Amino acid sequence: MELPILPTSIIGSYPKPRWLLRMYSLYELGRLPKEDFEEAVKDASVSVLREHERAGIDIPWDGEMGRSEMTEYFTAKISGFRFYGPVRVWGNAYFNKAAAVSKLEYREPLVLEEFGWVKANTTREIVKVPITGPYTIAEWSFNEYYPSKEELAFDLAKILNREFKALEREGASFIQIDEPAMLNHPDEVPMAVEAINRAVKGVKVKFGLHVCYSNYHLFADYFDDIKVSQFALEFANRNFRDMDYLKKLTHQELGFGAVDVHNPRVESPEEVAKAIRKVMEYIEPERLYVNPDCGLKLLDRRIAYQKLVNLVKGVQIVRRELARSGKETVPFRRSV
Ligand SMILES: [Zn+2]
Repeated sequence: MELPILPTSIIGSYPKPRWLLRMYSLYELGRLPKEDFEEAVKDASVSVLREHERAGIDIPWDGEMGRSEMTEYFTAKISGFRFYGPVRVWGNAYFNKAAAVSKLEYREPLVLEEFGWVKANTTREIVKVPITGPYTIAEWSFNEYYPSKEELAFDLAKILNREFKALEREGASFIQIDEPAMLNHPDEVPMAVEAINRAVKGVKVKFGLHVCYSNYHLFADYFDDIKVSQFALEFANRNFRDMDYLKKLTHQELGFGAVDVHNPRVESPEEVAKAIRKVMEYIEPERLYVNPDCGLKLLDRRIAYQKLVNLVKGVQIVRRELARSGKETVPFRRSV
């Protein structure tokens, strides 16, 4: 299967419609039946999927409308976790931090239903399925059962591996593992790498790995050890500076973060094109995908949409330039 050169995608989250946030509040207060809440989530998913498609994104997703938070959503579906109550993370954001209190077991699908719904409602052949990785779930949980964080992370890898196999059976072709915590403790990075490799083992879909706002110079030493075909990284937030570590990315693809998700200023298409030309000094266009730095969920919805529109327009500028040398499509590669 072929994609236009510089395929465009998203990282995962997208601003929830205001009406959906009201539904969340009512549901949490017990004033909305579960089936009504779930119907609202599905409607919002289709609405965001349409927005991604209308912006021209080649590989869309539903913006994670059903996920309130990136670890709680998963730990709530895994046996062996319990919740003690909300914990403050950054600023005034809270999340329900889970504690592993017994052996973790796969109880129910994690994102299979979300994938099925997206698949049934998109015009695109490939969608990206983002899912939080084993190390980050372990790092952001309390461990009250396992002798070590490593054993906790490896059991999570086993559970994710089962989910990935189920996704493969249902026709998923591109899964992105999100590991924002992966580089928090330099001495634990080898363990995080091993957990990711266990999670993807034997699954024949394309795997991307997203890590953001971290020390990429440290990360680069592990590129060759990680069994994924793409790294989706953030660049706009650091003004496209200090990209030398990309010299260590010798065979896998790069998901290039071309717009900043922490700044409401909408980048122009020409700025996006200029950034892509710069990264092409390190990575040839055949190994480049283009996406925002990270999930867009903290932005105003109209701004998030406009950023996607301009990201696609910027990509189109560079595509016209590449077409002059006959570069118009790239194969969709499941592994590299
Ligand atoms: Zn991110």
